[in-house]
Amino acid sequence: MSDMKKVKNSVRAQAKKPGEVGEAREHKSQEKEVKIKPKKKFQYLYGPVPSRRLGYSLGVDLLPFKTCTLNCIYCQLGPTRKKTIRRSSFFSEKQILEEIREFLKTGAKVDFITFSGSGEPTLNKSIGRLIRKIKKMTSLPVAVLTNSTLLTRPEVRKDLMAADVVVPSLDGVTQKVFEKVNRPHPSLKAEKITEGLIKFRQQFKGQIWLEVMLVKGVNDSAAHLKKLKQAIEKIHPDKTHLNTVVRPPAEKSAQPLSLDELNKIKEFLGEKTEVVASFRKKEQKKAPPEIAQAILDIVHRRPVTLEDLENSLGLTREELSLTLQHLLDSHQLKQIKHAGRLYFEP
Ligand code: SF4
Repeated sequence: MSDMKKVKNSVRAQAKKPGEVGEAREHKSQEKEVKIKPKKKFQYLYGPVPSRRLGYSLGVDLLPFKTCTLNCIYCQLGPTRKKTIRRSSFFSEKQILEEIREFLKTGAKVDFITFSGSGEPTLNKSIGRLIRKIKKMTSLPVAVLTNSTLLTRPEVRKDLMAADVVVPSLDGVTQKVFEKVNRPHPSLKAEKITEGLIKFRQQFKGQIWLEVMLVKGVNDSAAHLKKLKQAIEKIHPDKTHLNTVVRPPAEKSAQPLSLDELNKIKEFLGEKTEVVASFRKKEQKKAPPEIAQAILDIVHRRPVTLEDLENSLGLTREELSLTLQHLLDSHQLKQIKHAGRLYFEP
């Protein structure tokens, strides 16, 4: 599971209490009533989200909340509500495209348009048409984050052909490990998924960045890693990204590997492998400059609420609160009140 999936997950998993951080400490001298044009709310879009791999990425979410072919033990959305392998349109293509058109008119800085969100995007059978239509609307590259399970189907592989980057997941290459880590729909077979990825690589001309989510004691044994390496050698991704459970998982038993352990596995898997796990929780205690900079980048474009920041950065309010407090205390940010809501601005 990749960065972009986590972004929306963390936001949706939080109960919303508007203004909580801003109201925790009083900054009355910095408050004033001003007229602000309210941010346009999109139903199918989120972000732009700064992502290590995709730069500023506009997320497109094509699914009802937590509709997926899997129910991964590390999923940050909690348990899968609808586990299915049946593809459907779910929402109006026209409305999704209209939102993207509206967003593009704003001129906001975006490096990628990314299909991700609250489930498995290839379950939406309009994804192929949507990608092709977006490519006609803009020169921005399109990425798709997928759990790979439907790449066994020729029509799904065909749907992704117009994308520029596909980030497929592969966590378990034996049926036993696959079932333990991903808790799949009963019809899904690990061996067939690897075969689907091999076929997709043969057909797809864009970049494939394979993501492996490693869970302590579940899919990190020497025997499984050996089989994983053999599978990766057959798939030939452009890159392999190693991740681990750095955000709250669906099951408390899903524990992360250490950075040292990930680095050893990276060496074992070979030169095209990178560690992408961010270990954000540890860094956050120190109010890392990259979070502060990301917040400042956003507020310099427009005033934002705490909820906007959660959506844009894919961080929880708890993760944001220390940095926001630091920025308020150092007068790099101030708060203003508009229509009963608190906004941050430079
Ligand atoms: S693939 Fe796994 S991590 Fe991703 S949404 Fe589905 S259950 Fe969650």
